Amino acid sequence: MRDFFLTHEDRAFREEVRAFMSRELAPKMDLIERDQDFNTQLTVARALGQAGYLKLMFPDLYRGALPKPGLIHAVIVSEEAAFLNYAFETTIATALSCAYPIHRFARAALRERYLLPILEGRSLGSICMTEPNVGSDSASMKTRIRFDEVSGEWVISGLKRYISNASKADVYIVWGVTDPEVPPQKGLTAILIPADADGMSFPRLYDFMGRRGSIVGEVAMDEVRVPEENLLGELNGGFKIMLSAFNFERVILGGSGLGVARSAFEIASQHAQERVSFGQKLGQKQLIWDMIAQMSCKIDASELLTHRAAKMYDSGIGGKDLMREASQAKLVASETAVFCADRTVQILGGDGVTRQYGRAEQLYRDARTLPIVGGTSEMCKYLIAAREMPSIRLNL
Ligand SMILES: Cc1cc2nc3c(=O)[nH]c(=O)nc-3n(C[C@H](O)[C@H](O)[C@H](O)COP(=O)(O)OP(=O)(O)OC[C@H]3O[C@@H](n4cnc5c(N)ncnc54)[C@H](O)[C@@H]3O)c2cc1C
Repeated sequence: MRDFFLTHEDRAFREEVRAFMSRELAPKMDLIERDQDFNTQLTVARALGQAGYLKLMFPDLYRGALPKPGLIHAVIVSEEAAFLNYAFETTIATALSCAYPIHRFARAALRERYLLPILEGRSLGSICMTEPNVGSDSASMKTRIRFDEVSGEWVISGLKRYISNASKADVYIVWGVTDPEVPPQKGLTAILIPADADGMSFPRLYDFMGRRGSIVGEVAMDEVRVPEENLLGELNGGFKIMLSAFNFERVILGGSGLGVARSAFEIASQHAQERVSFGQKLGQKQLIWDMIAQMSCKIDASELLTHRAAKMYDSGIGGKDLMREASQAKLVASETAVFCADRTVQILGGDGVTRQYGRAEQLYRDARTLPIVGGTSEMCKYLIAAREMPSIRLNL
């Protein structure tokens, strides 16, 4: 049985979201992938916001029909969006990853200014951790944040790279060092910076093999000044915010991987049932049904792990107690997306690597970023293994 962890109500919600995506996103897939038209993404994001689908994670703000909205519903939205277009899904997932710490850790005035516009699809957010010399080892970042006692402002300098929604977001959460004398876990702080702050610039946008249409680039901060109230949480409390943002992001990424994997699988199983080779349907050949069976198992494993992690979160489990499950969901779903996209290309033969014959080649390119973003597969394995072997210190 698919959707094992979903209630009747969750399944009805999935149908509703699926109908929304086929109405609002499906007709625009080409504009996003082929023309890389970001305005089209903004139009769909606005519609998503107006339908209330970006507030699912925030029950105090949600006004829709679900009596108990939660991460499981946000995962369903991600999955259904990624099924059609992974680039679009990353744009909204990034905005949500920014909205989440604002909702939880920002001062009331800032929440009011920045949160609702993101959740209503009227503006975008971005999260900035990665730097030129610091990726997986995010705690070793070099961006500096200091407090100017005279003006009462935070002053931020540094360069972030590989930042989703860079130059398009209206607000950026930036992590930096506030106390270099202590271990990084105790000396990082998170600050909210509006895009139009003096000293903010976006020197470079990247050109990726997949996720065509999404925007990823550098964010440079040259003595950027923001008011004291832009501090998120506590001074030197940035690492804790980062960890909770990672949990949330990884469960959502489970949904992204699942959407991409399911999309590829649908193409593969259809082709295997239609294409005739050596007088028989492809799906009648053992080497082909082996691939179909492996994809089926991996997709179900991804779904069970992702939905379990989301339901755990919705039942109040978080922080370190969710780290293993969130990492398992992200690891298995993203590797499954790569596996399924690759096997689908193989089952399609020439059609699999040709742009004129459907989306298999796009899914193959799109899937490849999944094991890299939001904590690489290796980092997820570290977090899982560290929880499973608490008596030893793993050699990172
Ligand atoms: C499309 C895209 C969008 C992104 N969006 C954002 C964003 O919005 N915000 C943001 O902050 N970042 C973003 N990133 C950055 C992403 O989080 C990093 O690329 C990722 O964390 C890996 O860092 P790195 O690229 O520096 O690789 P590295 O950390 O240099 O790692 C290179 C390889 O070595 C492995 N490795 C590293 N250390 C170890 C170890 N101790 N043991 C074993 N293996 C190890 C890694 O798993 C990886 O396979 C994005 C990246 C991409 C590609």
